[in-house]
Amino acid sequence: MSVLVMKFGGTSVANLDRIRRAAKRVGVEVAKGHNVIVIVSAMAGRTNELVGWVEETSPLFDAREYDAVVSSGENVTAGLMALTLQEMGVPARSWQGWQVPLQTSSAHSSARIESIPTDNINAKFGEGMQVAVVAGFQGISPEGRITTLGRGGSDTTAVAFAAAFDAVRCDIYTDVDGVYTTDPRICEKARKLDRIAFEEMLELASLGAKVLQTRSVELAMRFGVRLRVLSSFEEQSDNAGTLVCAEEDIMESNVVAGVAHSRDEAKLTLISVADRPGIAALIFSSLSEAGVNVDMIVQNISEEGRTDMTFSCPTNQVARAEQALDKAKEAEILNYREVIADTGVAKVSVVGIGMRSHTGVAAKMFKALSDEGINIKVITTSEIKISVLIDRKYTELAVQSLHDAFELEKAV
Ligand code: ASP
Ligand code: MG
Repeated sequence: MSVLVMKFGGTSVANLDRIRRAAKRVGVEVAKGHNVIVIVSAMAGRTNELVGWVEETSPLFDAREYDAVVSSGENVTAGLMALTLQEMGVPARSWQGWQVPLQTSSAHSSARIESIPTDNINAKFGEGMQVAVVAGFQGISPEGRITTLGRGGSDTTAVAFAAAFDAVRCDIYTDVDGVYTTDPRICEKARKLDRIAFEEMLELASLGAKVLQTRSVELAMRFGVRLRVLSSFEEQSDNAGTLVCAEEDIMESNVVAGVAHSRDEAKLTLISVADRPGIAALIFSSLSEAGVNVDMIVQNISEEGRTDMTFSCPTNQVARAEQALDKAKEAEILNYREVIADTGVAKVSVVGIGMRSHTGVAAKMFKALSDEGINIKVITTSEIKISVLIDRKYTELAVQSLHDAFELEKAV
């Protein structure tokens, strides 16, 4: 029998009434003849509350106990979902991560999934159970401790189950009705996409679009899991929402699929570092040892053997980055004049697989920004995206003008 994975996010299970609505939707799929694996998040706001309790109790908390606490939100919704289905006459039971067991690495609070045995759940399907409700976001480490997969991790749980059970599809129910060309709260012309390629979704997710956890898209791409993002608040037809799928399954698309933005960016410049082999390695190994996630990197042309090095990182890591660079300077590992931090920047990116075969995308993007008088501070590109750092106060304007310039309101 075919297996369908359905994942319900926090707002879709925010109270008993919503759990009932979600369960009804599960019932519809069961009636179509699927065995269903339901992955649930914690009720909306619950994980934040649990994290808050941990931080208040112990600011430098033991990550194993953090996971023990924050994973509990999903246990509640899994049990309630199973009960609701049973009340509807649908044979269902719940599983916590360790019961499956969903095995993960020991990296508490950001563990990686290592394996999902299918025998246990399949045996129950064989006995007539129709729905397995699994608590998302959690697993068990080789040491037998409860782990969590990082915020937003139940998306990743869902995709991993879809891959393990060779599911026909993985439906992600959320509070938006799909993936948009850009954030509709910023740009009213944003258009819902019927389909988007894995690569594009991966870039958009990692560049700041918040619909799916980046790792879930990575996993879907690797295992060819057809992912559908749709709203649990609207009546659904079979082709509702957005399908995230292989490039080959998309007939024709715009050169640019979407515009992403992230406000949580800072730019740091090291003034006057020596321009010789090994210096970049020293700078960025000091930063990575300090746990700084460096994103963009630009090196200036040098003058008299010295150069400036600019990089970006999340705003909340600026202090840590400065500290690491100071330390390296004190230890005489690095020699630079000063570090200048600009914490008022944002990153705006255009993404599209069409860029591989079309030229002129960068020119059009830079022209649109300059027409608005927006200065570009740093540029990076990959095969399918162009990102720029700009003053944060221009974020909305930049997104809107890029959306207009690439005519994303129009489908091809
Ligand atoms: N409840 C967890 C969170 O809020 C996991 C999830 O919902 O995906 O991050
Ligand atoms: Mg989520």
